[in-house]
Amino acid sequence: MEKTYYEVLGVSEKATIDEIKRAYRELAMKYHPDKNPEDKTANERFREIKQAYDVLSNPSRRQKYDNYLRMKREGRLPNQQTYQSVASATNGGQGTGGVYPRGYTPKRGKDVDYELTISFRESYFGTEKTIKVSIPGPCRVCNGTGFDLSSYVLCPTCYGAGYVIQTVQTANGPVSKSITCPTCKGVGGNYLRKCSRCKGTGSDMYLEKIKVKIPAGVENGAIIKITSKGGYGFFGGPRGDLNLKMKVEKDENFWRVRNNLHTKIVISFVKAILGGRAKVNTLKGEEIIPIPEASTLGTELIVEGEGFPDPITGERGDLIVEVEIDVPEDLTEEEIEIIRKFAEISGIDPMDPEAP
Ligand SMILES: [Zn+2]
Ligand SMILES: [Zn+2]
Repeated sequence: MEKTYYEVLGVSEKATIDEIKRAYRELAMKYHPDKNPEDKTANERFREIKQAYDVLSNPSRRQKYDNYLRMKREGRLPNQQTYQSVASATNGGQGTGGVYPRGYTPKRGKDVDYELTISFRESYFGTEKTIKVSIPGPCRVCNGTGFDLSSYVLCPTCYGAGYVIQTVQTANGPVSKSITCPTCKGVGGNYLRKCSRCKGTGSDMYLEKIKVKIPAGVENGAIIKITSKGGYGFFGGPRGDLNLKMKVEKDENFWRVRNNLHTKIVISFVKAILGGRAKVNTLKGEEIIPIPEASTLGTELIVEGEGFPDPITGERGDLIVEVEIDVPEDLTEEEIEIIRKFAEISGIDPMDPEAP
């Protein structure tokens, strides 16, 4: 029966970290190769002490090692052959090409796309929305590893250290150096089962409410990037971004051309000829605008600075009011008489196809 790491250091299995440190210091001094240049067993002993200390002084390694000891004592530890074959089965393609999973490096979360529809009015004034987004991230149960964390067993060669001490003979005598453990390729152990929640994918979804601010002037099709609100990172990696793909609804009375806000008004032919004033509905409310003389169909009346703000410069476009002219259908005899007189004075013969 091999010695446990506790026995190597001569401490109890309930030893505190301070007791472990003290025991290690004493033994390391005693067996240090520099102090025992002639003694080969001292070298061996020192290596053993160092390995035991590396595992027991690290709380998570120590816990794994304790698990290992418990399983071993309860006879639940699989022999190395089943261990390796199960390991290859659960390796899920992310292994080293060997039978053990690779160490986990931080990975940034995925960027998430979300289509957000706002009204035309909201695109003019800007708005704030609370959206519900499905955010991908590491599995709640296995933290993204894809493995059943309780099925971890330490590597039978290095007991979780990930390396072994090798002694090589040199001209100056034996020299110890640590090399990556050949059995586990430095990982230190392996999981025997896949995570039951994610079935080994390591991924999970999180429904999240996110408050987003939509600035005034956002155009249909614009993409608003909200940094660090996308997918959760794996193994300590940062969060990805949330990309809002903006959809702006059409409006019955208003439309947008570049940064200009367009609308139209209908005025009578009298106002069109004589000029005057007209009430126009803008997104901000009613406004009175002047109508110049001799306005025609399609005349554009410009109210400066009442358009959309430019998303980059903040400079506002204009409100452009397009004129439509109403020709009345229900004129009285008297009104028709006046129009006829007008035609006569201006020399317009309505029956002349050449006349304007
Ligand atoms: Zn190993
Ligand atoms: Zn999982």
